[in-house]
Amino acid sequence: MSKPFYITTTLPYVNNDPHIGFAMEIIRADVVARYKRLEGYEVFFNTGTDEHGAKLYEAAQKAGITPQAYVDGFALRFRELVSTLNISANSFIRTTDAYHVHAAQEFWRRADANGDIYKKNYKTKYCIGCELEKTDSELVEGKCPIHPNRDIEIREEENYFFRYSKYGEKLLALYQERPDFVVPDSRLNEMKAFIARGLEDFSISRLASKMPWGIPVPGDDLHVMYVWFDALVNYIAAVGWPHDMDSFEKWWNASGGALQYCGKDNTRQQSAMWQAMLMSVRISPSQKIIVNGFVTGGDGQKMSKSLGNVVNPFDVIAEFREYVHAPEEVVRFVVTHDFSSFEDSPVSQEGIIASYSSQLANGIGNLTNRIMKLSATYRTEPFHETKSHFASAYKEAFERYDLREAISYCMAQVKRLDTRIQETEPFKVVKVDEEKGKALITALVYDLAVIAYHLEPFLPKTSAKIMECIRANKMPEKPLFNRLP
Ligand SMILES: [Zn+2]
Repeated sequence: MSKPFYITTTLPYVNNDPHIGFAMEIIRADVVARYKRLEGYEVFFNTGTDEHGAKLYEAAQKAGITPQAYVDGFALRFRELVSTLNISANSFIRTTDAYHVHAAQEFWRRADANGDIYKKNYKTKYCIGCELEKTDSELVEGKCPIHPNRDIEIREEENYFFRYSKYGEKLLALYQERPDFVVPDSRLNEMKAFIARGLEDFSISRLASKMPWGIPVPGDDLHVMYVWFDALVNYIAAVGWPHDMDSFEKWWNASGGALQYCGKDNTRQQSAMWQAMLMSVRISPSQKIIVNGFVTGGDGQKMSKSLGNVVNPFDVIAEFREYVHAPEEVVRFVVTHDFSSFEDSPVSQEGIIASYSSQLANGIGNLTNRIMKLSATYRTEPFHETKSHFASAYKEAFERYDLREAISYCMAQVKRLDTRIQETEPFKVVKVDEEKGKALITALVYDLAVIAYHLEPFLPKTSAKIMECIRANKMPEKPLFNRLP
């Protein structure tokens, strides 16, 4: 019996087309999912779309269509991204799906039954961009530092609240007990400091008369649930809570909970709010939270459509289409190899082109051609498949979720083989000592197969193409990564 492993992305809020930051998150989750499968795990991989809230309601009104029609359009775009990037997710949950709505309402009932929900009047400063309340200390010159183009709203109304303040000590105890609960360490330290300053209960409903686009609060038609108390529940709804408890037992309890990827603007929601919510309804915590940095434009600001510095993954793929056997693998490579595993990373077209040329076209693409040309000409022995194992340096990188280090290991092996070809000159040796030359070439082919195996989680189609050439003992019909003009 293979062990269950559950991984999820955050659900992107569907008010904009997918940008490279979310492509990075979902590709990284996919790399981990593929790695775990190769390590013998049975994997549940969840992604989807977050579809309620004021921002979407306003956008739909502006567009003159119903909120449902508005989010349907975006959900399609995100599904398209999942297939275009060759993401191996087996679950795509939308927070407007009936089973999610049911789960969110049941979650509310249980938190309420445990005394963690109450009603009060309140006034708050709110960033619609983040869908979060902001304290004065979080604002810079009265503006949200992540959304400097939006005005902070002052809100006053009667809302339901979640007793977040009750869970500060318990959250600190969780972090104490599991020191790698949040990766990297710096983000865990941020959370400890945040909680140590004291948690304030947060608002979890809105008046339906002002903002009807949400899940009705159980037993109170005047209110709808507000974003986080709705959206975060998707992580357990996706694996069957509460409608299929056998599935939930396997994918949440037996697997040790979800490994959750998120961006650094989501650290609080994933590592604290969500964990407190789970404690409230007596469900064990997530397995781990892995926090990505932002992808920044040339100006160092977070990439966003409103700032006009967005790099669209679909555009990158379109640009490379005629040069690459699988153009989405250029995006998969850039977000794992070129970007920092945890810190902010700048993206530029020049950077993508430079990396493509040095690592893919002149790196793995050229190496495959060189070795398979020699092999097709001189190798006579068939290729013997053996059970592959990952190198320990590569495995250790995965254990720390440092994907950049893992793929860099692969690219170092590519360089090593290139150097070996230069130094041993099998193309010359084979002409003077056929046996010795063939042995050198055969060894190169086996080492290329090892590289292909290590590349599989990152570049599954490239890996498969290389293995196809090795098994058939032929060169690729076309270079895997053509040189750019
Ligand atoms: Zn904001």
